[in-house]
Amino acid sequence: MSPHATITFTQATEIAREIKAIAYNLWWTWNVDARDLFRELSPQTYFRNNHNVIAMFDEISDQELAARLLDPLQMERAQNVINQYKKYMSEKNTWATKHAKELVQQGPVAYFSAEFGLHESLPIYSGGLGILAGDHTKSASDLGIPFVGVSLYYRQGYFEQLIGPDGWQQEEYPNTDPKKLPLELVTNESGEPIVATVKIGHSDVYFQAYRINLGRVSLILLDTNREENELHYREMTSQVYGGDITTRISQEIVLGIGGVRMLNAMGITPAVYHLNEGHSAFLTLELLRQLVRNEGKTTAEAIRWVREHTVFTTHTPVPAGHDRFSEDLIRFTLQKFCTECWDDVSEIMHLGRIDPDNKEEPFCMTVLALKMSRATNGVSELHGKVSREMWSDLFPKKKVDQIPIGHITNGVHVPGWTSSRAYRFWQNVLDKNWPEHLDDPEFWKRIENPDYVSDEQIWALRYILRRELIEFVRTRLRQQSARYGNNPRDTFDKVLSTDALTIGFARRFATYKRAPLFFSDPERARRILRNPDRPVQIIYAGKAHPRDDQGKKLIQQLVGFARETELFEKVVFLENYDINAGRLLVSGADIWLNNPRRPLEASGTSGQKTAIHGGLNVSIMDGWWREAYNGKNGWAIGEDSHPDSVEEQDRQDAENLYDVLENQVIPEFYNREGNGLPRNWLKRVRNAMATLIPQYNTDRMVEEYVRKYYLKNSK
Ligand SMILES: *Cc1c(COP(=O)(O)O)cnc(C)c1O
Repeated sequence: MSPHATITFTQATEIAREIKAIAYNLWWTWNVDARDLFRELSPQTYFRNNHNVIAMFDEISDQELAARLLDPLQMERAQNVINQYKKYMSEKNTWATKHAKELVQQGPVAYFSAEFGLHESLPIYSGGLGILAGDHTKSASDLGIPFVGVSLYYRQGYFEQLIGPDGWQQEEYPNTDPKKLPLELVTNESGEPIVATVKIGHSDVYFQAYRINLGRVSLILLDTNREENELHYREMTSQVYGGDITTRISQEIVLGIGGVRMLNAMGITPAVYHLNEGHSAFLTLELLRQLVRNEGKTTAEAIRWVREHTVFTTHTPVPAGHDRFSEDLIRFTLQKFCTECWDDVSEIMHLGRIDPDNKEEPFCMTVLALKMSRATNGVSELHGKVSREMWSDLFPKKKVDQIPIGHITNGVHVPGWTSSRAYRFWQNVLDKNWPEHLDDPEFWKRIENPDYVSDEQIWALRYILRRELIEFVRTRLRQQSARYGNNPRDTFDKVLSTDALTIGFARRFATYKRAPLFFSDPERARRILRNPDRPVQIIYAGKAHPRDDQGKKLIQQLVGFARETELFEKVVFLENYDINAGRLLVSGADIWLNNPRRPLEASGTSGQKTAIHGGLNVSIMDGWWREAYNGKNGWAIGEDSHPDSVEEQDRQDAENLYDVLENQVIPEFYNREGNGLPRNWLKRVRNAMATLIPQYNTDRMVEEYVRKYYLKNSK
């Protein structure tokens, strides 16, 4: 439409209706034009609702929206988004039609995960496992893979984190309103909700489902909050990993057994079941039960069938991190379920035990998943190796390196994690459709060529992104302080400098991630931060699990440093790490710091989000970084090995961290001999982009899952 053509109110109303419909497909969260359109329609409302556009549209009348679209510029943007959306949704020529025709014909991969990290407005994730599931789903859509995700609708989600005046983490659980989220109740032809049941103990527990549309695929969220249920069953799915061990097993029964039943009720017949971590492994028991009871198969035949159709990704390199349930608890919750098919629970107990005859051994969800899958993988090369060693008892006849657990290294969904500024930057210097080239290393080599992008341009981008993060941090600090009526607002105007080397550290506060490692020698840390010629600043964020007092102590310790008068402007603990804060942190930080206790970081993905923004990783040689580091694309802390003693490891790693910061990272950032720019630093940035972006993304990852595990003839 030409900018001078007159738009009628009727036309504007029609366009308004179409863009409101697009808000119900999370495709908009990874399309920069859609994201910017929604934000610009009403920036304050958008930010106040934490980018939840359904809630935003709830506050904007149809009259107002249509009136806004009478503006030719807005109208043009809206029509552009509508056209892109239609094109995306109707695309026939996808990666999958070219490379996985068989899968396209056979029907969907059903991907089960206890959490999905999709967007800041949907708090149904707690950490990396959920983020990975969300990114996997978005790439499945981009690649045209037939795919349906299954999880739970956690009404209160994972908590919102507040830091109290004493530095102690407090948790709040606001209720979300499904009407103000991009959810559709799953209904039958007559518009009635589809309701299914599972037996837990002696009760029938009823549940319904919501659908979330993600581009061309969808996610089904199961919800037990129905009137038929007793109160404790209604509440059972309200919090991510909430409640006690009985809540945990009940959630897992709904997820696994209930998930299969809901897919049945919706008429969906998956070609492959993918278990993202062991939480959903009960789904294999439901498949068994159906085959034995409805199709008259023997249990052995049924097991064979289930194994042929199931793949499993394990994520946890510590034995204690795997769900285990006592025989009593299994008996109590699953007796009724089992006796519909078998004589007694004992007929399935052995499926969750390494030693089937050991009556003392609890039922382990990972063991069940391992036994019932045709393929299992860890999420990095090292994690694959650790997993083979960890589960070697289950394969007594095999040598460790022959144990059938492989690996596929995790990635991130790059367009979803790229800040709008960086997204546009790459559109200008590389290609308007750069996200379509994520699996093409040749394309990303362009970044090493100054004809495409100059040092000056990259350096300017770094300033824009660093400032965006710093302004966000200051606003958050003002809000936090207003809550306690403490400091006047202008106290925070000087927190963090837009010129200083900025280190980001954000992750769950599990102890193995060693958040305060940089402060192991507080005097040395203070010296690094307060050097007037080469200042360094550090921003921390992350939640501790509500029952993890150790993790909360680590937060308190860091808040303590952030409150020291001499560190006040240089160290920040940012409240309530979520996807939005995460996006700002990975884009604004010059250095992304990762210092877990090796080999406990199975992969880690947050560092993969920095490359597209021109950030660099400083990381322990664990998980993905061990494979990605080439000597020129960031820095390693220590070597590709670790001592047996944890104390010794912590000591060595702290020393190595100080060493790499003091002798390499900081001097390189502040070496401005090349006409005021850090030329060597920028060379490293270019190498990081060229080598990391085309490899550590979920398009590459999902393609690998298809080739190795999803296709029938794969092994
Ligand atoms: C990326 C991300 C994670 C996972 O990153 P790790 O490196 O595994 O810690 C967790 N939480 C949020 C909010 C993220 O954005």
